[in-house]
Amino acid sequence: MSIKNFYDWILNLVYPPVCGICGKFNQEFLCKKCQKMLEAEAKFNVDKVDNQEYFFENHLYIFKYEGIIRKLILNYKFNEKSYLYKTFVNFLLKNEKFFKILKSYDTIIPVPVSSKRLNERGYNQSELLANDIVKQIAECECVKDCLVKNKNIIEQSKLNKEQRQKNIQGVYILKNKEKLINKKILLIDDIYTTGSTANECCKVLQKAKPKKIDVFTVAKD
Ligand SMILES: [Zn+2]
Repeated sequence: MSIKNFYDWILNLVYPPVCGICGKFNQEFLCKKCQKMLEAEAKFNVDKVDNQEYFFENHLYIFKYEGIIRKLILNYKFNEKSYLYKTFVNFLLKNEKFFKILKSYDTIIPVPVSSKRLNERGYNQSELLANDIVKQIAECECVKDCLVKNKNIIEQSKLNKEQRQKNIQGVYILKNKEKLINKKILLIDDIYTTGSTANECCKVLQKAKPKKIDVFTVAKD
């Protein structure tokens, strides 16, 4: 067994190849029936951001955060169903429009979580998404040592818009900024609600003078 096969074998133990939604055996982590269901829900929208207070140009997302999608994402986030990321990524990359757009970025940056949160949950859901995307798109590199979460804060989901903006200020810091100069960056997160988290990350990333920053989330609330 080669190292790569061995690695895949281990990954299959950790993330068995089943449809992330119905649990049926499926090598692509998404069966035909559930793919149809996701297709019926999918938007694949690119919202151009036209607001001086925002530090990114476009917001890309697959779904509206409602119904079955909301349920799926909550499972993904809180019920240790981390393998769902493969289902989302495989679905995402089957969409020609988004596949083409994703290929245009040099750098993919997952929204970081604090080490405390990482220890509790065992994974950063945005990082799982980012890793899997760059595995399938050779043009992009996943960079994890530039944007760092520096503080533990109250979970944003428990706060209203104004509180979120305050809560998130100064939480992220920029490191190794030379890596990002003149790059086309895509910031990745799971859900976009008020945009305060994504915007704070982009504000920090803009200090590295990248060529462009967009934001991608699985869903938009
Ligand atoms: Zn299924």
